[in-house]
Amino acid sequence: MTPRPHWLFGDQLGPHFLDPRHGGPDAQAPVVMIEARAVLRRRRFHRAKAHLVLSAMRHRAAELGDRVTYVRAETYAEGLEQAVGRTSRVTVCHPTSRRALDFVGTLEGVEILPAKGFMVGHDDFAEWAGRHTGPRLRLESFYRWVRERHDLLMDGEDPAGGRWNLDHDNREPPPRGQDTLGVRGPWQPSEDAIDDEVRNDLDRWEHDGDVSFVGRDGPRRFPATRREALSALRHFVTHRLPDFGRYEDAMLAADPVMSHSLLSAPLNLGLLDPAECVERAVRAYRAGDAPLNSVEGFVRQIAGWREYVWHLYWHFGEEYRQRNALRHTAPLPDWFLGLDADAVTANCLSTVLAQVRDTGWTHHIPRLMVLGSRALQDGWDPAAVTDWFHRCFVDGYDWVMLPNVVGMSQYADGGLMTTKPYTSGGAYIHRMSDLCGPCAHRPSDRTGDRACPYTAGYWAFLHRHRARLAANHRTARAVKGLDRLKDLPELLDATARRGDTPP
Ligand code: FAD
Repeated sequence: MTPRPHWLFGDQLGPHFLDPRHGGPDAQAPVVMIEARAVLRRRRFHRAKAHLVLSAMRHRAAELGDRVTYVRAETYAEGLEQAVGRTSRVTVCHPTSRRALDFVGTLEGVEILPAKGFMVGHDDFAEWAGRHTGPRLRLESFYRWVRERHDLLMDGEDPAGGRWNLDHDNREPPPRGQDTLGVRGPWQPSEDAIDDEVRNDLDRWEHDGDVSFVGRDGPRRFPATRREALSALRHFVTHRLPDFGRYEDAMLAADPVMSHSLLSAPLNLGLLDPAECVERAVRAYRAGDAPLNSVEGFVRQIAGWREYVWHLYWHFGEEYRQRNALRHTAPLPDWFLGLDADAVTANCLSTVLAQVRDTGWTHHIPRLMVLGSRALQDGWDPAAVTDWFHRCFVDGYDWVMLPNVVGMSQYADGGLMTTKPYTSGGAYIHRMSDLCGPCAHRPSDRTGDRACPYTAGYWAFLHRHRARLAANHRTARAVKGLDRLKDLPELLDATARRGDTPP
Protein backbone atom coordinates (compact mmCIF):
# COMPACT_ATOMS: atom_id res chain seq x y z
CA MET A 1 0.00 0.00 0.00
CA THR A 2 1.35 3.48 -0.87
CA PRO A 3 1.98 5.42 2.32
CA ARG A 4 -0.03 8.55 2.99
CA PRO A 5 1.40 11.80 1.60
CA HIS A 6 3.32 13.91 4.08
CA TRP A 7 2.74 17.68 4.11
CA LEU A 8 5.85 19.79 4.71
CA PHE A 9 5.34 23.34 5.94
CA GLY A 10 7.76 26.05 4.80
CA ASP A 11 9.61 25.99 8.12
CA GLN A 12 10.14 22.22 8.08
CA LEU A 13 12.78 22.04 5.39
CA GLY A 14 15.64 20.01 6.88
CA PRO A 15 16.12 16.26 6.36
CA HIS A 16 15.11 15.52 9.96
CA PHE A 17 11.50 16.42 9.13
CA LEU A 18 11.37 13.47 6.73
CA ASP A 19 13.36 11.06 8.87
CA PRO A 20 11.21 7.99 9.60
CA ARG A 21 13.22 7.35 12.74
CA HIS A 22 12.12 9.41 15.75
CA GLY A 23 8.50 9.68 14.59
CA GLY A 24 8.89 11.05 11.05
CA PRO A 25 6.80 9.95 8.05
CA ASP A 26 7.30 6.73 6.12
CA ALA A 27 10.50 6.76 4.03
CA GLN A 28 8.47 6.15 0.88
CA ALA A 29 5.77 8.76 1.62
CA PRO A 30 5.16 11.22 -1.19
CA VAL A 31 5.65 14.83 -0.07
CA VAL A 32 3.31 17.79 -0.51
CA MET A 33 4.44 21.41 -0.27
CA ILE A 34 2.08 24.36 -0.61
CA GLU A 35 2.98 27.94 -1.44
CA ALA A 36 -0.11 29.83 -0.26
CA ARG A 37 -0.36 33.36 -1.65
CA ALA A 38 -2.87 34.37 1.05
CA VAL A 39 -0.06 34.21 3.63
CA LEU A 40 1.79 36.99 1.79
CA ARG A 41 -1.38 38.98 1.23
CA ARG A 42 -2.38 38.87 4.90
CA ARG A 43 0.61 40.88 6.11
CA ARG A 44 3.11 43.35 4.74
CA PHE A 45 6.27 41.31 5.20
CA HIS A 46 9.86 42.39 4.68
CA ARG A 47 10.74 41.63 1.09
CA ALA A 48 13.97 39.85 2.08
CA LYS A 49 11.94 37.55 4.30
CA ALA A 50 9.44 36.69 1.56
CA HIS A 51 12.35 36.05 -0.77
CA LEU A 52 14.21 33.85 1.71
CA VAL A 53 11.23 31.68 2.65
CA LEU A 54 10.08 31.13 -0.95
CA SER A 55 13.63 30.51 -2.11
CA ALA A 56 14.19 27.94 0.65
CA MET A 57 10.89 26.17 -0.13
CA ARG A 58 11.59 26.01 -3.84
CA HIS A 59 15.14 24.82 -3.26
CA ARG A 60 13.81 22.03 -1.06
CA ALA A 61 11.25 21.06 -3.70
CA ALA A 62 14.01 20.93 -6.32
CA GLU A 63 16.03 18.61 -4.07
CA LEU A 64 13.05 16.31 -3.48
CA GLY A 65 12.41 16.07 -7.23
CA ASP A 66 9.69 13.58 -8.21
CA ARG A 67 8.90 12.80 -4.60
CA VAL A 68 7.20 16.16 -4.06
CA THR A 69 4.00 17.70 -5.35
CA TYR A 70 4.61 21.45 -5.10
CA VAL A 71 1.40 23.45 -5.33
CA ARG A 72 0.98 27.19 -5.73
CA ALA A 73 -2.48 28.08 -4.47
CA GLU A 74 -4.43 30.85 -2.83
CA THR A 75 -4.82 29.08 0.53
CA TYR A 76 -3.50 25.97 2.25
CA ALA A 77 -6.95 24.35 1.99
CA GLU A 78 -7.08 24.87 -1.77
CA GLY A 79 -3.50 23.71 -2.16
CA LEU A 80 -4.11 20.55 -0.20
CA GLU A 81 -7.19 19.74 -2.24
CA GLN A 82 -5.22 20.21 -5.46
CA ALA A 83 -2.42 17.99 -4.19
CA VAL A 84 -4.25 15.11 -2.52
CA GLY A 85 -7.95 15.61 -3.26
CA ARG A 86 -10.75 16.18 -0.78
CA THR A 87 -9.96 13.32 1.55
CA SER A 88 -6.78 15.07 2.76
CA ARG A 89 -5.48 11.94 4.47
CA VAL A 90 -1.98 13.25 5.10
CA THR A 91 0.60 13.18 7.83
CA VAL A 92 2.24 16.41 9.02
CA CYS A 93 4.80 17.22 11.69
CA HIS A 94 3.37 19.37 14.50
CA PRO A 95 3.20 22.89 12.98
CA THR A 96 4.91 25.81 14.69
CA SER A 97 1.94 28.15 14.99
CA ARG A 98 -1.35 27.77 16.78
CA ARG A 99 -3.22 28.95 13.70
CA ALA A 100 -1.61 26.24 11.53
CA LEU A 101 -2.15 23.60 14.24
CA ASP A 102 -5.84 24.55 14.48
CA PHE A 103 -6.12 24.35 10.70
CA VAL A 104 -4.57 20.90 10.38
CA GLY A 105 -6.73 19.81 13.31
CA THR A 106 -9.84 20.51 11.24
CA LEU A 107 -8.70 18.20 8.43
CA GLU A 108 -10.34 14.84 8.29
CA GLY A 109 -7.97 11.89 8.58
CA VAL A 110 -4.84 13.97 9.18
CA GLU A 111 -2.22 12.50 11.49
CA ILE A 112 -0.11 15.04 13.38
CA LEU A 113 3.37 13.66 14.06
CA PRO A 114 5.54 14.94 16.94
CA ALA A 115 7.19 18.37 16.62
CA LYS A 116 10.72 18.36 15.26
CA GLY A 117 13.40 21.01 15.25
CA PHE A 118 13.57 21.41 19.04
CA MET A 119 15.57 19.60 21.68
CA VAL A 120 12.85 19.24 24.30
CA GLY A 121 9.53 17.52 23.57
CA HIS A 122 6.18 18.91 24.70
CA ASP A 123 5.64 16.12 27.25
CA ASP A 124 9.08 16.58 28.77
CA PHE A 125 8.55 20.32 29.08
CA ALA A 126 5.14 19.75 30.68
CA GLU A 127 6.78 17.46 33.22
CA TRP A 128 9.46 20.06 33.98
CA ALA A 129 6.93 22.90 34.20
CA GLY A 130 4.76 20.79 36.51
CA ARG A 131 7.63 20.66 38.96
CA HIS A 132 8.20 24.42 38.78
CA THR A 133 4.92 26.01 39.72
CA GLY A 134 4.89 29.64 40.79
CA PRO A 135 4.39 32.95 39.07
CA ARG A 136 7.30 32.46 36.69
CA LEU A 137 9.06 29.66 34.94
CA ARG A 138 12.71 30.57 35.16
CA LEU A 139 14.97 30.38 32.13
CA GLU A 140 17.98 29.64 34.32
CA SER A 141 16.46 26.60 35.92
CA PHE A 142 15.07 25.32 32.59
CA TYR A 143 18.44 25.81 30.90
CA ARG A 144 20.33 23.87 33.58
CA TRP A 145 17.81 21.06 33.32
CA VAL A 146 18.33 20.89 29.51
CA ARG A 147 22.10 20.84 29.97
CA GLU A 148 21.92 17.97 32.45
CA ARG A 149 19.35 16.04 30.46
CA HIS A 150 21.36 16.27 27.23
CA ASP A 151 24.72 15.94 28.95
CA LEU A 152 25.62 19.19 27.25
CA LEU A 153 28.78 20.99 28.27
CA MET A 154 28.95 18.91 31.44
CA ASP A 155 31.89 17.39 33.30
CA GLY A 156 30.15 14.50 34.99
CA GLU A 157 27.46 16.03 37.19
CA ASP A 158 28.98 19.51 37.12
CA PRO A 159 28.86 22.20 34.48
CA ALA A 160 32.07 22.40 32.42
CA GLY A 161 34.46 24.82 34.07
CA GLY A 162 32.47 24.67 37.32
CA ARG A 163 30.02 27.50 36.52
CA TRP A 164 26.58 27.32 34.92
CA ASN A 165 26.31 30.97 34.08
CA LEU A 166 29.03 33.04 32.43
CA ASP A 167 26.80 36.04 31.59
CA HIS A 168 29.08 38.25 33.65
CA ASP A 169 31.95 37.62 31.18
CA ASN A 170 29.67 38.22 28.21
CA ARG A 171 28.55 41.79 28.72
CA GLU A 172 31.55 43.82 27.69
CA PRO A 173 31.14 47.14 25.90
CA PRO A 174 32.60 47.21 22.39
CA PRO A 175 36.37 47.63 22.12
CA ARG A 176 37.06 51.39 22.24
CA GLY A 177 38.45 53.02 19.13
CA GLN A 178 37.38 50.20 16.83
CA ASP A 179 34.68 50.53 14.16
CA THR A 180 34.39 46.78 13.79
CA LEU A 181 35.14 43.79 15.93
CA GLY A 182 37.76 42.71 13.40
CA VAL A 183 36.63 39.09 13.21
CA ARG A 184 36.15 37.22 9.94
CA GLY A 185 32.86 38.26 8.27
CA PRO A 186 29.80 35.99 8.28
CA TRP A 187 29.26 33.26 5.69
CA GLN A 188 27.55 34.55 2.54
CA PRO A 189 25.57 32.63 -0.06
CA SER A 190 25.72 32.96 -3.83
CA GLU A 191 22.35 33.34 -5.45
CA ASP A 192 21.17 31.00 -8.21
CA ALA A 193 18.38 30.66 -10.77
CA ILE A 194 15.81 29.78 -8.11
CA ASP A 195 16.58 33.03 -6.29
CA ASP A 196 16.13 34.92 -9.55
CA GLU A 197 12.84 33.21 -10.23
CA VAL A 198 11.53 34.12 -6.76
CA ARG A 199 12.67 37.72 -7.17
CA ASN A 200 10.88 37.97 -10.53
CA ASP A 201 7.71 36.57 -8.98
CA LEU A 202 7.86 39.08 -6.13
CA ASP A 203 8.38 41.91 -8.62
CA ARG A 204 5.41 40.77 -10.66
CA TRP A 205 3.07 40.30 -7.70
CA GLU A 206 4.06 43.68 -6.33
CA HIS A 207 3.61 45.32 -9.71
CA ASP A 208 0.16 43.74 -10.10
CA GLY A 209 -0.81 45.19 -6.71
CA ASP A 210 -1.33 41.67 -5.40
CA VAL A 211 1.00 41.97 -2.41
CA SER A 212 3.15 44.67 -0.90
CA PHE A 213 6.30 44.54 1.16
CA VAL A 214 8.44 46.67 3.46
CA GLY A 215 12.22 46.89 3.41
CA ARG A 216 14.77 46.25 0.73
CA ASP A 217 15.52 42.92 -0.83
CA GLY A 218 18.75 41.34 -1.88
CA PRO A 219 21.30 40.05 -2.20
CA ARG A 220 20.23 37.09 -0.07
CA ARG A 221 22.24 36.88 3.17
CA PHE A 222 20.88 33.75 4.83
CA PRO A 223 21.05 30.06 3.90
CA ALA A 224 18.22 28.66 1.77
CA THR A 225 19.36 25.02 1.61
CA ARG A 226 20.63 22.42 4.03
CA ARG A 227 24.04 22.50 2.37
CA GLU A 228 24.25 26.28 2.74
CA ALA A 229 23.05 26.10 6.34
CA LEU A 230 25.77 23.58 7.21
CA SER A 231 28.39 25.81 5.57
CA ALA A 232 27.14 28.77 7.59
CA LEU A 233 27.27 26.75 10.82
CA ARG A 234 30.77 25.45 10.07
CA HIS A 235 32.00 28.93 9.19
CA PHE A 236 30.57 30.38 12.39
CA VAL A 237 32.01 27.72 14.69
CA THR A 238 35.43 27.88 13.05
CA HIS A 239 35.88 31.60 12.63
CA ARG A 240 33.44 33.52 14.80
CA LEU A 241 32.40 31.46 17.82
CA PRO A 242 35.61 32.21 19.78
CA ASP A 243 34.61 35.90 20.00
CA PHE A 244 30.88 35.30 20.38
CA GLY A 245 30.69 35.63 24.14
CA ARG A 246 32.62 38.69 25.19
CA TYR A 247 30.84 41.28 23.02
CA GLU A 248 27.47 39.51 22.78
CA ASP A 249 25.58 42.57 24.07
CA ALA A 250 27.64 45.27 22.37
CA MET A 251 26.67 47.29 19.28
CA LEU A 252 28.86 48.89 16.61
CA ALA A 253 27.28 51.04 13.89
CA ALA A 254 29.60 49.80 11.12
CA ASP A 255 29.55 46.17 12.26
CA PRO A 256 25.94 45.17 12.90
CA VAL A 257 26.62 41.41 12.97
CA MET A 258 29.73 41.53 15.19
CA SER A 259 30.28 37.91 16.31
CA HIS A 260 26.67 36.78 16.21
CA SER A 261 25.93 33.58 14.33
CA LEU A 262 23.13 34.66 11.96
CA LEU A 263 21.76 31.15 12.41
CA SER A 264 18.26 32.05 13.59
CA ALA A 265 16.87 32.10 10.03
CA PRO A 266 18.14 28.62 9.01
CA LEU A 267 17.21 27.25 12.44
CA ASN A 268 13.67 28.60 12.18
CA LEU A 269 13.30 27.34 8.60
CA GLY A 270 14.17 23.90 9.94
CA LEU A 271 17.36 23.71 7.86
CA LEU A 272 19.48 23.19 10.96
CA ASP A 273 18.67 21.14 14.01
CA PRO A 274 19.46 22.96 17.29
CA ALA A 275 21.15 19.88 18.77
CA GLU A 276 23.73 19.75 15.98
CA CYS A 277 24.49 23.47 16.44
CA VAL A 278 25.23 23.21 20.14
CA GLU A 279 27.08 19.91 19.76
CA ARG A 280 29.46 21.47 17.25
CA ALA A 281 30.10 24.39 19.54
CA VAL A 282 30.83 22.06 22.46
CA ARG A 283 33.22 20.05 20.27
CA ALA A 284 35.10 23.28 19.49
CA TYR A 285 35.43 23.92 23.24
CA ARG A 286 36.63 20.38 23.95
CA ALA A 287 39.19 20.71 21.14
CA GLY A 288 40.48 23.94 22.66
CA ASP A 289 39.30 25.98 19.67
CA ALA A 290 36.81 28.23 21.50
CA PRO A 291 36.74 29.57 25.06
CA LEU A 292 34.14 28.47 27.57
CA ASN A 293 32.41 31.84 27.90
CA SER A 294 31.66 31.93 24.16
CA VAL A 295 30.53 28.34 23.99
CA GLU A 296 28.40 28.59 27.12
CA GLY A 297 26.86 31.82 25.80
CA PHE A 298 25.97 30.18 22.49
CA VAL A 299 24.61 27.00 24.12
CA ARG A 300 22.54 29.17 26.48
CA GLN A 301 20.98 31.01 23.51
CA ILE A 302 20.01 27.87 21.64
CA ALA A 303 19.46 25.13 24.24
CA GLY A 304 18.20 27.70 26.76
CA TRP A 305 16.43 30.70 25.26
CA ARG A 306 15.25 29.20 21.98
CA GLU A 307 13.80 26.08 23.63
CA TYR A 308 12.31 28.09 26.49
CA VAL A 309 10.58 30.54 24.12
CA TRP A 310 9.18 27.69 21.99
CA HIS A 311 7.64 25.99 25.01
CA LEU A 312 6.34 29.20 26.60
CA TYR A 313 4.47 29.90 23.35
CA TRP A 314 2.42 26.75 23.82
CA HIS A 315 2.37 26.88 27.61
CA PHE A 316 0.95 30.41 27.88
CA GLY A 317 -1.94 29.70 25.51
CA GLU A 318 -3.71 31.75 22.87
CA GLU A 319 -4.85 34.55 25.21
CA TYR A 320 -1.20 35.50 25.79
CA ARG A 321 -1.33 37.28 22.40
CA GLN A 322 -3.82 39.80 23.82
CA ARG A 323 -1.98 40.55 27.05
CA ASN A 324 -1.56 44.23 27.73
CA ALA A 325 -0.70 44.60 31.42
CA LEU A 326 0.56 48.17 31.02
CA ARG A 327 -2.53 49.18 28.98
CA HIS A 328 -0.47 50.54 26.13
CA THR A 329 -2.67 51.46 23.18
CA ALA A 330 -0.79 54.00 21.02
CA PRO A 331 -0.59 53.06 17.33
CA LEU A 332 2.81 52.57 15.71
CA PRO A 333 3.86 55.76 13.91
CA ASP A 334 4.20 55.69 10.12
CA TRP A 335 7.98 56.27 10.16
CA PHE A 336 8.41 53.11 12.24
CA LEU A 337 5.96 51.06 10.19
CA GLY A 338 7.67 52.13 6.99
CA LEU A 339 11.23 51.59 8.34
CA ASP A 340 11.93 55.22 7.52
CA ALA A 341 15.38 55.43 9.11
CA ASP A 342 16.11 58.76 7.46
CA ALA A 343 13.25 60.47 9.29
CA VAL A 344 14.81 59.74 12.68
CA THR A 345 17.41 61.97 14.36
CA ALA A 346 18.42 59.65 17.22
CA ASN A 347 21.46 57.92 15.75
CA CYS A 348 20.90 54.57 17.52
CA LEU A 349 17.32 54.24 16.32
CA SER A 350 18.09 55.51 12.84
CA THR A 351 21.05 53.08 12.48
CA VAL A 352 19.07 50.10 13.72
CA LEU A 353 15.98 50.92 11.63
CA ALA A 354 18.25 51.12 8.58
CA GLN A 355 19.69 47.70 9.44
CA VAL A 356 16.18 46.25 9.60
CA ARG A 357 15.17 48.03 6.39
CA ASP A 358 18.22 46.72 4.51
CA THR A 359 18.54 43.20 5.90
CA GLY A 360 15.51 42.20 8.00
CA TRP A 361 17.86 41.39 10.87
CA THR A 362 19.61 42.97 13.86
CA HIS A 363 21.02 41.19 16.89
CA HIS A 364 19.22 40.84 20.19
CA ILE A 365 20.32 44.06 21.90
CA PRO A 366 19.15 46.43 19.12
CA ARG A 367 15.87 44.48 19.09
CA LEU A 368 15.44 44.73 22.85
CA MET A 369 17.13 47.95 23.91
CA VAL A 370 16.62 50.16 20.84
CA LEU A 371 13.49 49.05 18.95
CA GLY A 372 11.53 47.36 21.73
CA SER A 373 12.55 49.94 24.30
CA ARG A 374 11.29 52.77 22.08
CA ALA A 375 7.92 51.01 21.71
CA LEU A 376 7.68 50.41 25.45
CA GLN A 377 8.61 53.96 26.42
CA ASP A 378 6.16 55.45 23.94
CA GLY A 379 3.34 53.11 25.01
CA TRP A 380 2.67 51.43 21.66
CA ASP A 381 0.08 48.67 21.45
CA PRO A 382 2.02 45.42 22.18
CA ALA A 383 -0.02 43.36 19.69
CA ALA A 384 0.87 45.83 16.92
CA VAL A 385 4.52 45.79 18.01
CA THR A 386 4.50 41.97 17.84
CA ASP A 387 3.01 42.09 14.37
CA TRP A 388 5.68 44.59 13.27
CA PHE A 389 8.55 42.38 14.49
CA HIS A 390 6.94 39.32 12.92
CA ARG A 391 6.67 40.99 9.52
CA CYS A 392 10.00 42.83 9.47
CA PHE A 393 12.46 40.16 10.65
CA VAL A 394 13.73 37.32 8.47
CA ASP A 395 13.62 34.97 11.47
CA GLY A 396 10.19 36.07 12.75
CA TYR A 397 7.56 33.36 13.31
CA ASP A 398 4.53 33.39 15.56
CA TRP A 399 6.03 31.03 18.18
CA VAL A 400 9.23 33.02 18.62
CA MET A 401 7.72 36.50 18.39
CA LEU A 402 5.00 36.15 20.97
CA PRO A 403 7.10 35.43 24.07
CA ASN A 404 9.99 37.62 22.87
CA VAL A 405 7.87 40.67 22.17
CA VAL A 406 4.79 40.40 24.40
CA GLY A 407 6.79 39.08 27.36
CA MET A 408 10.44 39.91 27.06
CA SER A 409 10.32 43.23 25.24
CA GLN A 410 6.97 44.86 26.07
CA TYR A 411 6.31 43.45 29.57
CA ALA A 412 2.73 43.10 28.40
CA ASP A 413 2.35 39.87 30.40
CA GLY A 414 2.94 41.84 33.61
CA GLY A 415 6.07 39.85 34.48
CA LEU A 416 5.26 36.22 33.66
CA MET A 417 8.42 35.91 31.62
CA THR A 418 10.77 38.54 33.01
CA THR A 419 11.20 40.05 36.42
CA LYS A 420 11.21 43.65 35.16
CA PRO A 421 10.58 45.68 32.00
CA TYR A 422 13.63 45.92 29.72
CA THR A 423 14.19 49.58 28.95
CA SER A 424 16.89 52.10 29.71
CA GLY A 425 18.02 55.66 29.24
CA GLY A 426 20.64 56.68 26.72
CA ALA A 427 23.46 55.93 29.19
CA TYR A 428 23.12 52.17 28.60
CA ILE A 429 23.19 52.60 24.82
CA HIS A 430 26.17 54.93 25.17
CA ARG A 431 28.08 52.42 27.31
CA MET A 432 27.34 49.44 25.07
CA SER A 433 27.84 51.02 21.64
CA ASP A 434 29.50 53.66 19.52
CA LEU A 435 26.12 55.03 18.48
CA CYS A 436 25.90 58.07 20.76
CA GLY A 437 29.16 59.80 19.72
CA PRO A 438 27.90 61.24 16.42
CA CYS A 439 24.29 61.66 17.63
CA ALA A 440 22.43 64.98 17.62
CA HIS A 441 21.13 64.08 21.09
CA ARG A 442 23.16 63.69 24.29
CA PRO A 443 22.55 60.59 26.43
CA SER A 444 23.03 62.64 29.61
CA ASP A 445 20.41 65.26 28.66
CA ARG A 446 16.86 64.71 29.88
CA THR A 447 15.50 68.03 28.69
CA GLY A 448 16.46 70.81 26.32
CA ASP A 449 17.37 70.93 22.65
CA ARG A 450 19.68 67.95 22.77
CA ALA A 451 17.64 65.77 25.12
CA CYS A 452 18.12 62.08 24.37
CA PRO A 453 14.71 60.55 23.55
CA TYR A 454 15.70 57.35 25.37
CA THR A 455 16.75 59.17 28.53
CA ALA A 456 13.62 61.33 28.57
CA GLY A 457 11.47 58.39 27.52
CA TYR A 458 12.88 56.21 30.31
CA TRP A 459 11.91 58.68 33.04
CA ALA A 460 8.52 59.31 31.46
CA PHE A 461 7.93 55.54 31.40
CA LEU A 462 8.89 55.18 35.08
CA HIS A 463 6.59 58.08 35.95
CA ARG A 464 3.66 56.64 33.97
CA HIS A 465 3.93 53.26 35.73
CA ARG A 466 5.22 54.56 39.05
CA ALA A 467 2.89 52.56 41.28
CA ARG A 468 3.52 49.22 39.59
CA LEU A 469 7.27 49.68 39.30
CA ALA A 470 7.66 50.95 42.88
CA ALA A 471 6.15 47.67 44.05
CA ASN A 472 8.73 45.63 42.12
CA HIS A 473 11.97 45.19 44.04
CA ARG A 474 13.98 45.23 40.79
CA THR A 475 12.68 48.66 39.74
CA ALA A 476 11.82 50.29 43.08
CA ARG A 477 15.16 52.08 43.33
CA ALA A 478 14.89 53.52 39.84
CA VAL A 479 11.41 54.85 40.67
CA LYS A 480 12.81 56.60 43.76
CA GLY A 481 15.16 58.43 41.39
CA LEU A 482 12.13 60.22 39.95
CA ASP A 483 11.82 62.24 43.15
CA ARG A 484 15.25 63.75 42.58
CA LEU A 485 14.39 65.07 39.12
CA LYS A 486 13.66 68.79 39.42
CA ASP A 487 12.96 69.00 35.70
CA LEU A 488 10.38 66.18 35.65
CA PRO A 489 7.40 68.45 34.73
CA GLU A 490 9.40 69.95 31.86
CA LEU A 491 10.50 66.46 30.73
CA LEU A 492 6.94 65.09 30.82
CA ASP A 493 5.66 68.09 28.93
CA ALA A 494 8.30 67.68 26.21
CA THR A 495 7.72 63.91 25.80
CA ALA A 496 3.94 64.43 25.66
CA ARG A 497 4.33 67.12 22.99
CA ARG A 498 6.58 64.91 20.91
CA GLY A 499 3.66 62.68 19.86
CA ASP A 500 4.38 60.87 16.61
CA THR A 501 7.35 63.04 15.68
CA PRO A 502 10.36 60.81 15.09
CA PRO A 503 12.90 61.10 17.94
P1 FAD B 1 22.91 34.64 18.06
O1 FAD B 1 23.11 35.80 18.94
O2 FAD B 1 24.05 34.11 17.30
O3 FAD B 1 22.28 33.48 18.98
C1 FAD B 1 22.29 32.11 18.59
C2 FAD B 1 20.87 31.59 18.44
O4 FAD B 1 20.19 31.56 19.67
C3 FAD B 1 19.97 32.36 17.52
O5 FAD B 1 20.24 32.03 16.18
C4 FAD B 1 18.60 31.89 17.97
O6 FAD B 1 18.23 30.73 17.29
C5 FAD B 1 18.80 31.57 19.43
N1 FAD B 1 18.18 32.57 20.30
C6 FAD B 1 18.82 33.45 21.08
N2 FAD B 1 17.95 34.17 21.80
C7 FAD B 1 16.73 33.74 21.47
C8 FAD B 1 15.43 34.10 21.88
N3 FAD B 1 15.21 35.06 22.79
N4 FAD B 1 14.42 33.48 21.30
C9 FAD B 1 14.61 32.51 20.39
N5 FAD B 1 15.82 32.12 19.96
C10 FAD B 1 16.87 32.72 20.51
N6 FAD B 1 14.71 35.24 17.49
C11 FAD B 1 14.20 34.59 16.44
O7 FAD B 1 14.71 33.54 16.04
N7 FAD B 1 13.10 35.05 15.78
C12 FAD B 1 12.49 36.19 16.17
O8 FAD B 1 11.51 36.57 15.57
C13 FAD B 1 13.01 36.91 17.28
N8 FAD B 1 12.44 38.06 17.70
C14 FAD B 1 12.95 38.75 18.74
C15 FAD B 1 12.32 39.93 19.16
C16 FAD B 1 12.80 40.62 20.25
C17 FAD B 1 12.12 41.88 20.70
C18 FAD B 1 13.93 40.13 20.93
C19 FAD B 1 14.46 40.84 22.13
C20 FAD B 1 14.57 38.97 20.53
C21 FAD B 1 14.08 38.25 19.43
N9 FAD B 1 14.69 37.07 18.97
C22 FAD B 1 14.16 36.39 17.92
C23 FAD B 1 15.84 36.50 19.68
C24 FAD B 1 17.21 36.97 19.14
O9 FAD B 1 17.23 38.38 19.05
C25 FAD B 1 17.52 36.37 17.77
O10 FAD B 1 17.35 34.97 17.80
C26 FAD B 1 18.95 36.64 17.35
O11 FAD B 1 19.20 38.02 17.41
C27 FAD B 1 19.19 36.09 15.95
O12 FAD B 1 20.48 36.40 15.51
P2 FAD B 1 21.63 35.30 15.55
O13 FAD B 1 21.17 34.09 14.85
O14 FAD B 1 22.87 35.93 15.08
O15 FAD B 1 21.69 34.98 17.09
